[in-house]
Amino acid sequence: MKIMVAIKRVVDYAVKIRVKPDKTGVETTNVKMSMNPFCEIALEEALRIRESGQASEVVAVSMGPQQCVDTLRTGLAMGADRGIHVETKEMLYPLSVAKLLRALVEVEKPQILILGKQAIDDDCNQTGQMVAGLLNWPQGTFASKVVLDKEKQELTVDREVDGGLETLCLDLPAVITTDLRLNQPRYATLPNIMKAKSKVIKKYTPEELNVEIKSDLEIVQVTEPPKRKSGVMVSSVDELIDKLKNEARVI
Ligand code: AMP
Repeated sequence: MKIMVAIKRVVDYAVKIRVKPDKTGVETTNVKMSMNPFCEIALEEALRIRESGQASEVVAVSMGPQQCVDTLRTGLAMGADRGIHVETKEMLYPLSVAKLLRALVEVEKPQILILGKQAIDDDCNQTGQMVAGLLNWPQGTFASKVVLDKEKQELTVDREVDGGLETLCLDLPAVITTDLRLNQPRYATLPNIMKAKSKVIKKYTPEELNVEIKSDLEIVQVTEPPKRKSGVMVSSVDELIDKLKNEARVI
């Protein structure tokens, strides 16, 4: 069984985001970039399934500029067997990524496709749902536990939903998107970083996959959120209630 994992290169979670002076987007020049944290969890889950003996191959996929190869190398150092890079300089929106993933699924024929629940740069939380729709595969989004039964060709997925947990049983092939509590991703060890250098990364262009990158969205302007005003200390509960009632007018 083959598992495909989508890993996105994003601004590192520890970096303070800055808006470009011309307000066209977020500054990424000379900024530390890393694998999206939810994608690390996705890859970790795929590796654990392979290590349990239920899958034979984990393929990591990334789409975007040439530098995505660095993210793929990190994925290979964590333990992925192969990488696929769809190279494009175009701005990628979730529907384009979903179409590229569908095209790669048709080439690679994995039984499970795992994505992060969202990318921390745009926080879209759309790609997994869209690719499941395009493929007409069942989806287990926001997974906090995944159990594979290879004999029955079934996945049992606990999902984190507003009211608590929901358990779904999915027939393979299926799409999973990962939530924070699913697992604790491993660090790449030095020997594995060295080994990753000789693993294969296959390149495609969107044209080779017959996917046209276009979007119906136009970014008009990106701005910083307004600065938060400092709070005030109140001396009593009565004063708090008075302020909530008469100043904030929320009660
Ligand atoms: P989003 O819908 O943009 O929040 O992204 C959700 C997930 O889709 C990410 O965690 C990745 O698994 C996958 N994804 C989105 N964009 C890309 C990309 N450019 N390359 C690889 N995977 C991606």
